[in-house]
Amino acid sequence: MSYQSGESVKNHFVIVGNGAAGYRAAKALRRADADAQISIITEERHPFYLRRQLADFVTGTLSLPELIFQSRNTYRRDRIDLLLMTRVERVDPAAHEVALFSGERIHYDRLLLATGTHAVPLAIPGAELEGVVTFDSLPQAQEVRRLLRDLRDAAILGEGIVGLSLTESLLAMGVRVTQLVRGERFWPEMLDEHTSRLMQNLLEDAGVTLRYETEAHAIIGAGDRVIGIETAIGETLRADLAAVGCRRQPVIDLVQGTGIEVRRGILVDSRLATSRPDIFAAGDVAEPAGPASFADNDAAFCWQRAWSLGDVAAAGMLGRTVEPAMEAVRLRTALFGRELAVIGRGHLPEGGNVTALELPHGPDVFRRLVFQDDRLVGAIVFGTGESVHELNRLVALRPLRASALGTLGLAEEPPGPGLMPTTLARHCPICAAELVVRQGTAADSVLRCPTCNTNLVVRWDGERMWLDIGRP
Ligand SMILES: Cc1cc2nc3c(=O)[nH]c(=O)nc-3n(C[C@H](O)[C@H](O)[C@H](O)COP(=O)(O)OP(=O)(O)OC[C@H]3O[C@@H](n4cnc5c(N)ncnc54)[C@H](O)[C@@H]3O)c2cc1C
Repeated sequence: MSYQSGESVKNHFVIVGNGAAGYRAAKALRRADADAQISIITEERHPFYLRRQLADFVTGTLSLPELIFQSRNTYRRDRIDLLLMTRVERVDPAAHEVALFSGERIHYDRLLLATGTHAVPLAIPGAELEGVVTFDSLPQAQEVRRLLRDLRDAAILGEGIVGLSLTESLLAMGVRVTQLVRGERFWPEMLDEHTSRLMQNLLEDAGVTLRYETEAHAIIGAGDRVIGIETAIGETLRADLAAVGCRRQPVIDLVQGTGIEVRRGILVDSRLATSRPDIFAAGDVAEPAGPASFADNDAAFCWQRAWSLGDVAAAGMLGRTVEPAMEAVRLRTALFGRELAVIGRGHLPEGGNVTALELPHGPDVFRRLVFQDDRLVGAIVFGTGESVHELNRLVALRPLRASALGTLGLAEEPPGPGLMPTTLARHCPICAAELVVRQGTAADSVLRCPTCNTNLVVRWDGERMWLDIGRP
């Protein structure tokens, strides 16, 4: 092969992973550079397919050719070398090579890691039984289809998006579904309490049996087939199929110990370059460097983000000046005909420096905007896809509250005369602690510094705000 070790070709772009991010990056690279050599390495046996629509394949709404978005011929036409069923074992940054499990090595000039996430393996007895699925790849969806004929009851262990989409398709096929939820409510790390309740109502109305604070202790089998679940409190639930894997982890084993910086995912800057400037990462495996990463501590799992980061990565690999990756969406999905988008830190509870603006629009639509230190840091939109695009952009920019609401056409009542139209922070003139003076504060009002207890007068002259010591 022309791209083997020792036969370095100029501009050989190598991409590991052929999901949304890798595939998109390859297409963007080819559009931008007609001469470059582009290779995609994937452990999967199929070309790029619509992973988030595996549930539609199970119900038959999408056929196999419709799911497999592009045939091998399309890759040939685009002159993209597609190495199927080929797994990368390790990246060797010093040699500019990736080492395959087969022992071969492939040289790169620029490398993109788009390896996504994998389900954290289930460490309970029975996990190896037939009928236990992770449902996160096409072979897994084919397995569910194969099992469908004999399915009456299914248990979905955990409330992750993969399990939920399987739930929806199984219900459509007449299977009874019990969903085990680990905590006392849905997705506490992603959703506020109100949206959790909306999700719960949506699922119960669709016919799902929800079991809160319930974890599986063992999977029960007869012969080598699943027949039930034993919960942690010793209860037995009937199940001919068990779907596992609500916790997901970025696939980073191939860079461990190589000096490429990782945290939960592979750390990237706004151009998606890793700590090695010729190696990029995009999609679910990429984690923004810096302290306040959008991902709080959980892996990203978002098709829209992966898709658009593929473009950003391609531009970075071509050495072009790019708009920084402005993706703040953490989840965008449609379940049982209702849309849900979680953007940035939309779940943060109110209190301290966090405020939330909740905008119910009747029982079917709910929006929650979250401000931290008066800046827009997150949003949740349930029941509609409207404004998600705008909110994604806005949350990435973290504008001040007044400006965000103005952009969204939600401007609040203008403050009365003498009231500050925006929130500002100043330092205490005594102890230098930072004080946040909220929008709507009246000129000459008094606030007490929480650090040194001094009474301070808010001076506001219509343009400038400062803090004076003493009485108004
Ligand atoms: C059933 C299901 C439903 C979903 N629903 C939604 C939804 O409603 N909304 C949403 O936003 N997202 C959804 N997702 C998530 C979405 O599909 C992912 O966020 C998206 O696919 C991420 O794209 P990616 O390119 O980063 O990684 P992936 O699509 O995971 O692709 C990574 C690829 O890299 C390959 N790979 C990994 N390591 C290696 C290696 N060492 N060598 C070779 N190949 C390797 C993997 O096999 C995989 O094919 C869903 C996912 C599933 C499975």
